[in-house]
Amino acid sequence: MLTGALTDALSGGTRGADALEPLVRTVRGALAEGAARRGGPIAAGHPAQLAALVAREFDAPGGEDALHRLTELLAHGSADPADPSCAAHLHCPPLAVAVAADLAVSALNPSQDSWDQAPAATSLETLLLEELARLVGYDPAGAAGVLTSGGTESNLMGLMLARDRVLGRAAGRRVEMTGVPGVPGVPEPSGAAAPRPRIFASDAAHFSVRRSAALLGLGEDAVVAVPTDSTLRMDPAALAAALGAAVARGELPVAVVATAGTTDTGAVDPLRECAALAAQHGAWLHVDAAYGGGALLSDRLAPLLDGIALADSVSLDWHKLGWQPAAAGVFLVRRAETYASLARRAVYLNPADDEEAGYPSLLGLSLRTTRRADAFKIAVTLRTLGRAGLGRLVDTCHDLARSAHTMIGAHPRLQPHAEPVLTALLFRYLPEDPRLADRADAVDTINARLRRALLRGGRAVVGRTELPGDGPGRVRLKLTLLNPHTTPADVERLLAIVTEAGRAEEEALLRGDSA
Ligand SMILES: *Cc1c(COP(=O)(O)O)cnc(C)c1O
Repeated sequence: MLTGALTDALSGGTRGADALEPLVRTVRGALAEGAARRGGPIAAGHPAQLAALVAREFDAPGGEDALHRLTELLAHGSADPADPSCAAHLHCPPLAVAVAADLAVSALNPSQDSWDQAPAATSLETLLLEELARLVGYDPAGAAGVLTSGGTESNLMGLMLARDRVLGRAAGRRVEMTGVPGVPGVPEPSGAAAPRPRIFASDAAHFSVRRSAALLGLGEDAVVAVPTDSTLRMDPAALAAALGAAVARGELPVAVVATAGTTDTGAVDPLRECAALAAQHGAWLHVDAAYGGGALLSDRLAPLLDGIALADSVSLDWHKLGWQPAAAGVFLVRRAETYASLARRAVYLNPADDEEAGYPSLLGLSLRTTRRADAFKIAVTLRTLGRAGLGRLVDTCHDLARSAHTMIGAHPRLQPHAEPVLTALLFRYLPEDPRLADRADAVDTINARLRRALLRGGRAVVGRTELPGDGPGRVRLKLTLLNPHTTPADVERLLAIVTEAGRAEEEALLRGDSA
């Protein structure tokens, strides 16, 4: 129990740690109690039941026990990726050491937008980015980057710099200042017709690519969806054809986005071919390695990303295959000079005379102003485990995905989609009853319902997605294996639970129940 004097204690200074200590002990106890009450990967029940529980606790009279009460509730009501049966998303179980490092950041609260709010953290972020640039294969002396909120922000930044550079060159003016040319219905000030800007990404690329195009004033329709093969890897011949067709229509290829590790299957687009085609058309190459960037930590998997060093910009997410608490996004550019269109000066944050006097500022590298020192936990993790230690975690999860694929392939009621590239794999339950087995819509319904049944029972958190295309028969379940402590026996148990739920849904459908 806290004493009244501690409720307004601060976390900094020489006394802050003492104030923090009993609170951290409270959190520790509540985390353990909440996890025990949950007793599995997720609390059983319908979302409305949990929402009612949250509302009751939130509305309860406040006081010193709020930290304990609400932490216990948070733990009870969390989907815990440290449980082997919680494997739906690119939602990793964070390393305890990274969380402890993040606690230090929260206590000290450095803000990366000016040196005088983050003296050491400013240098540390710069050094970490040099190390990550080297990991990607960039020359760290020429590269630049920043920590971001994740792949969504990193993709936006890559496409923004592409827009400013490629469209700016074509228009002969700074489009970040004067606006975007070539958008249908918006004539150039000169009256001349401007070519329509286009972005090329596979049909399995992350939705943030389209969202970015909208935010950048190009419109989502500026994104050309390049077809993928059955593993969801971009077909380079299709990219070449799409670029050629756009140029023939008088359009301007602004960027090619290659995905290194698609969200659903971990497929890596052909990076060298993408780089060659982008260069041939004067387009920017952005590699979205939000998921697959983790392969760079593994000697075995790093060759999958061969060619990433040719990218003009790269997205990496350490809160996926990096075991960091969110957020731990990284954005890198190969040539620092291509970053210039983002630089801004705020007289109260990075005055020129301060910079000349040796006070550096990261303000001009980010879309954000106030910004947490997310570099710190990554730096501590890298120095604690080393690349080799992290690489072993990546390899363990990759091995686990391959065993899961083998188990699924050997199971009469389960159908695998494709050999896992990284740590994610798709599959589905196949109904046994011949009245259902041949009906694609029924197979979809059973798979969608069995996943919800597992959530409701608090038994498992598995993913659900759809293969690209139209029509029924595309629903798939997904395992994203990011827990290096999960064993093949755990996966076997998880698949048994999935099969059992599939059987129950199959019977319910035959009885005519709805769910
Ligand atoms: C997760 C993911 C993103 C989005 O990243 P956030 O960190 O969630 O913003 C973008 N691209 C790919 C390929 C991803 O897997």
